[in-house]
Parts: sequence; structure tokens; C-alpha cells
Amino acid sequence: MSLVSGLEVAVVGASLGGLSVANVLRTYGAVVTVYECFGSGFHSRGGALGAVDVGLLQQIRNDKNKGYRAIRGHGHFYGSLWEYLYEGIPEGSVKFSVDVVGVEMSHERPRLGFSVKGENTVIWQAFDLIIGADGGKSTIRQYVTDSKPRYAGYTLWRGLVPVEGVDGPPSGSKTVNGVHYETLGFPVKLGPKGQTMWNCGVYMAMPEAEVEAPVRNRQIGASAMRTVPEWFVPFTEAAFGSHNAEFWRACAEKGKVSPHAVWELASDRVVNGRVALLGDAAHMASPRTGAGAYTAMTDAVVLRQAIEQAHSIEEALAMYNRNTVERGEALYRRSRQAASYFCPPNATIVSPQLVLEKLRPQATGNAHSKQSQRTCDV
Ligand SMILES: Cc1cc2nc3c(=O)[nH]c(=O)nc-3n(C[C@H](O)[C@H](O)[C@H](O)COP(=O)(O)OP(=O)(O)OC[C@H]3O[C@@H](n4cnc5c(N)ncnc54)[C@H](O)[C@@H]3O)c2cc1C
Repeated sequence: MSLVSGLEVAVVGASLGGLSVANVLRTYGAVVTVYECFGSGFHSRGGALGAVDVGLLQQIRNDKNKGYRAIRGHGHFYGSLWEYLYEGIPEGSVKFSVDVVGVEMSHERPRLGFSVKGENTVIWQAFDLIIGADGGKSTIRQYVTDSKPRYAGYTLWRGLVPVEGVDGPPSGSKTVNGVHYETLGFPVKLGPKGQTMWNCGVYMAMPEAEVEAPVRNRQIGASAMRTVPEWFVPFTEAAFGSHNAEFWRACAEKGKVSPHAVWELASDRVVNGRVALLGDAAHMASPRTGAGAYTAMTDAVVLRQAIEQAHSIEEALAMYNRNTVERGEALYRRSRQAASYFCPPNATIVSPQLVLEKLRPQATGNAHSKQSQRTCDV
């Protein structure tokens, strides 16, 4: 018997955070239902994660041997991790196409309001515990804290393209009026067939008016573009030289390019009564930290440890709150450090289109540099 044995738990969001905590709570005997607004699973979706901690995953699934074999071959692929976590919970635990609309707070049994896609009725159901693992655009966050994500001043333009016939990865940087622009990347094996792709990015300062607010699923993020804005490839040429621009042109034509605005959040609390936040709902950091998904999975392991150590569910949630707020603050500091590079304090953030206009006359002279490491003033 554990503290959560037999408790009815609702988890909102079936991405890596939600599935991680569902695995942990199920292992300790809770009856877990996961609500996900997307219509189906994410096993074939997503791109690369920078690093995967196999030991952490094994703790989450309570799976000492099988997990290692199952995930080590393609540990970088979001979809493989998703599938591994999904297989750890009983069939039918995830209710897809269900949109959670809110919570009615109550000390003992808060009620979750949700509607099934295509039906207008909102169903209200009471649970012993509600966990908001519903990402940056969290619906549940407002019931726990007033903390809100803030735009970090820059965007990661992310590219994915098969390596065949595409000379990469891109590599280069440029500093303009103290603002650092950078392109980089690495090859990854993605998908069930293990196709090798260039997983690349351009870090670029952009005004908030030109970017998207937090989206419902951060890893999937903005819709991939078949046609990138017409200034994008010329910008990469002006900033990083023609060799890098060729890469980005090929990526736009043969792969996909999508902007991911960087939003940051360190919540002042992640628990209110029987409602808790986990993952991006609780904390958000720059992809530069490479730690968003990792932190969501760590949250689940911290909750597991709290359940093991505490004498009551309230005590466990208090322990989880303390630890998660502290780790969220540490992650936020790392994210701010990255921002000081791409959007320094006091820097005026100018639209990349304007930066391009200023850079263009200089681009010709650097047309064939493979690696550009230059500094200039606009
Ligand atoms: C370009 C990029 C690269 C990244 N690289 C890395 C990396 O290398 N390493 C790393 O550790 N992290 C990385 N991250 C961060 C990582 O993707 C996120 O931190 C992680 O996905 C957060 O997981 P989550 O489960 O908390 O939230 P999300 O993945 O955002 O999932 C939230 C889920 O909740 C669902 N949902 C939302 N609202 C509702 C609702 N009202 N009702 C029902 N369902 C709802 C959504 O559909 C979604 O499935 C990267 C992020 C980006 C954008």
C-alpha cells in the first residue's frame, strides 16, 4: 500500500510530462486517467531531444532491463520516448480528443471540466488529485499560481531535413549591436526506421509582436512551414555566409523549418490543494538548456520520491512543491544566461527583416565563408 493507492488521479496532457507522471502514479497503485486534446498519439511525431537519461526513464517506468534495450537505439527521438512511456500505462488510460476547460476547486476532491471533441457538453468529474501537465499554454496553471510565461526576446528557427544530398550541418554566428545570432546543428537518427536527419537551428532575436504565444504542445510547436518567410534564407546568407544559406535553402525545400519562440517561466508555486503542475505548465526554459523534457520527467521522479518519503498526500505534495519550485528557479537562471547571449539586457530587439536590410551590403564579401564568426555594428 502506498499513499496514493486507489486514489483517482486526472492528468491533463499526454506528452512526455503527463505520461511520465501517469507511469509513476500507476506503479504506486493510483487509478490514473490522462486527458489529451489531440486526437491520437505522438509516436511518429516530434524531432530530436538533445540528451536522454535512460536511468531516469527506467525509474519512471519501473523497468530495469527492457527499457534500456527499447530506447537506447534511438534515444534522441521524441516519438520513441513517447511510445516507451505510453506502453507503460494500461491500455485506455489516455483519453484522446478530450479538451480540458477548467477546474472547480475544492479542498478534498477538485472537479475537472472537460468536453469530448465534437460534443458541446462539458462534463465535470471529481478527482482526488489533478495534475496539469498541459504545457506552456496550460489551462490548469491559473488554479495554482499567478506566474505566467514571459517571452525571452528570441526565437529558435528549427530545421529538419534528411542528410542525403544536403551538405551540413550549418555552423556560424554573427553579433549585431551586441545581439548574437547563431546557426548550428547535428545529425540524428529519427523515427522508427532510424532515418538520419540534420537537426538544426538558427537562434534569432525577434520582437514579441512577430512571434507566437506559447502553444499547446511545445515539442510539436508551430506548424511546420513548407514555405519559410522570404527574408529567412537571405538573412542566413547575410549573417552566416552562402554555404550556410545553401543548407537552409535545402532545408526549406526538402525538409521543414518552423519557428519556436522562446518563453520562460519559473512558477512561485506548483501545488494548490489537490491540484499540481508538472513540466512546461510549471516551468519553461530555452531549448538551449536542452532540459525542458528532462525536467518534466524529473518532476515525475521527484513526486515518486515524495510519495515514498511522506506520511500523507499533503506532505508529499508540499515536498514536491518545494523541490519543483527550486529546480524551476535553477532552470530559469540557466535560461536567462542563454538569453543574455541572444537578447542581452537593454538591447533593442529589431525585426530580422530590418537587420537583413542593414547587413545585405556586407553579405557579398563573405559569400563563400563556411564558418562565419564575425562581429559588426548595424
Ligand atoms: C525546438 C525545441 C527543442 C527542444 N529540445 C529539447 C531537448 O533537447 N531536451 C529537452 O529536455 N527538452 C527540449 N525541449 C523542451 C521540451 O520539448 C518540452 O519541455 C517538453 O515537451 C515539455 O513536456 P510537457 O509534457 O510538460 O508539455 P508539452 O510537451 O507541451 O505537452 C503538453 C500536452 O498537453 C496537451 N494539452 C494542452 N492543453 C490541453 C487541454 N486543455 N486539454 C487537454 N490536453 C491539453 C497538449 O496537447 C500536449 O500534448 C525542446 C523544445 C523545443 C520547442
